Amino acid sequence: AKAKGTGQFVEFTPEMQAAQDERFLLQRELEVALETQALEVAFQPLVRSSNRQVMGFEALARWPHPRLGAVSPGVFIPLAESTGLIGQLTEQMLFKACSAALHWPNHMIVAVNISPVLLRSEEFVQNIVKVLEQTGLAAQRLEVEITEGVFVYDTERVVGHLKALRALGVQVAMDDFGTGYSSLNYLTRLPISKLKIDKSFVDRIGEDSANDAVVSCVVGLAKTLGIATTAEGVETEAQATLLRGVGCDYFQGYLFGRPTIDPTATIIASRNNLA
Ligand code: C2E
Ligand code: CA
Ligand code: CA
Ligand code: CA
Repeated sequence: AKAKGTGQFVEFTPEMQAAQDERFLLQRELEVALETQALEVAFQPLVRSSNRQVMGFEALARWPHPRLGAVSPGVFIPLAESTGLIGQLTEQMLFKACSAALHWPNHMIVAVNISPVLLRSEEFVQNIVKVLEQTGLAAQRLEVEITEGVFVYDTERVVGHLKALRALGVQVAMDDFGTGYSSLNYLTRLPISKLKIDKSFVDRIGEDSANDAVVSCVVGLAKTLGIATTAEGVETEAQATLLRGVGCDYFQGYLFGRPTIDPTATIIASRNNLA
């Protein structure tokens, strides 16, 4: 039995034991995956809303698991965060993503997800510098995606680190915008170059006029502040039409392309569209 705060006891059931064993096993397997560089990167196209030209890709972590097939990042990213493995995971993602981007046309960027906890440490900025030096990718071609979760930590410190990244030329995008608990005022305080409107808002476009008004206002507000906007999870032409109409700059979603390990075909198709 495990002690609860109040002095009561709850039974530690076989089911709880099994769940904990599975978690420990998965953690050990993730350690091995990182040691052997087994994690892969899938790239999903980011397109310009005006002409649908590919302007870059978001790098998404993939874990081809020997026992379980593909484990969702919704499972292994929180596991990495809670076990201290996220630093190593992110460093590998950054390295693989920047190395891949070197082979793309020069105008294309690569966006990498950064867990809030990493923005706390000075070391993280140095890590980005190291990856850029080692790969030779221009800082302007790297975008880091952060979430409102960064406000759990010392905001002054986080802002300092983000400013240091911006000074290097790295772009900063606020991911999943509208899902957190922060107020709008940080938009003016954080050195953000782009705002990603969360899929939950995009999903409801055309079904809920209040939702459409919020989307329109957010795009307008961002524009006023000199911040570009990307809509996430765009799946239908109707969504794309409304979003373009309210001035959204970029699209990401299955309508334009799913995440793929090798984005070469997407890049070639995009080049041919231009010609
Ligand atoms: P996210 O950063 O919001 O990434 C977008 C997610 O939405 C991806 O899921 C992508 O596959 C999915 N998606 C994109 N377009 C559509 C669409 O049109 N329809 C639908 N239904 N889904 C769409 P994925 O790859 O499963 O990643 C889930 C989350 O895991 C990410 O959400 C991100 O928070 C996290 N994640 C993934 N890779 C990394 C990483 O390297 N580091 C960190 N810290 N987090 C990561
Ligand atoms: Ca993201
Ligand atoms: Ca997102
Ligand atoms: Ca999301």
